[in-house]
Amino acid sequence: MNPKLYLVPTPIGNLEDITLRALRILKEVDLILAEDTRTSSKLLKHYDIPTPTESLHMHNEHKKVDHYAEKIMAGISIAYISDAGTPGISDPGYLLIKTCLDKDIEVETLPGPTAFVPALVNSGLPSERFIFEGFLPQKKGRNKRFENLLKEDRSIIFYESPFRLVKTLTQLRDFFTPDHQVAVSRELTKIHEENFRGTLHCAIEHFSKKQPKGEIVIVFSPRN
Ligand code: SAM
Repeated sequence: MNPKLYLVPTPIGNLEDITLRALRILKEVDLILAEDTRTSSKLLKHYDIPTPTESLHMHNEHKKVDHYAEKIMAGISIAYISDAGTPGISDPGYLLIKTCLDKDIEVETLPGPTAFVPALVNSGLPSERFIFEGFLPQKKGRNKRFENLLKEDRSIIFYESPFRLVKTLTQLRDFFTPDHQVAVSRELTKIHEENFRGTLHCAIEHFSKKQPKGEIVIVFSPRN
């Protein structure tokens, strides 16, 4: 197998959501770098992938990326996987990719699962043009982000924690209007998947009844 860096997307909940090529690459590479080796061991065991794994995450990547780039230059093929979805999308990966590219190491990214695409497509909101905002800052810079979005005319996608969902919906209501359309996808591809579509007012009412659980994507339409 060619020594290069492969970025391999992994399921965001349902273990069946992985491509045949992703499974082959994970079996054939010399080493899998995982954001969390314990989390990824579930997937690797499920598909009988015996490839050795080491951990590379946001707390050690600054120290380790050069070491792994050198390994690839020495002829080792490496795949990087994050806990779920596509590496580099609100997940580590960027620093490793940039380091490899700066050293002229070939980087190949497989297409595959990511939470924001099904959330957008499924939202029923305009999907021909959109922006992905990832996670909002928790404190500093939050209002500035909302202010900047006031001029936006594309659908806006946020990743959000269930504990901040109602707070974020309420802030969106205050910056825009209660009758702006929003979609909230919770636990996509999992047993308790929920897709809410309606106004900000109704969404706040719905999610205030009971503390929501699980992983959440908000898709918001700035066009009323
Ligand atoms: N790399 C991932 C991707 O490609 O989508 C994103 C990782 S980020 C650390 C985790 C966030 O993604 C969650 O907090 C949630 O906002 C979103 N997410 C991941 N899986 C999800 C799911 N099954 N349903 C809804 N949102 C999900």
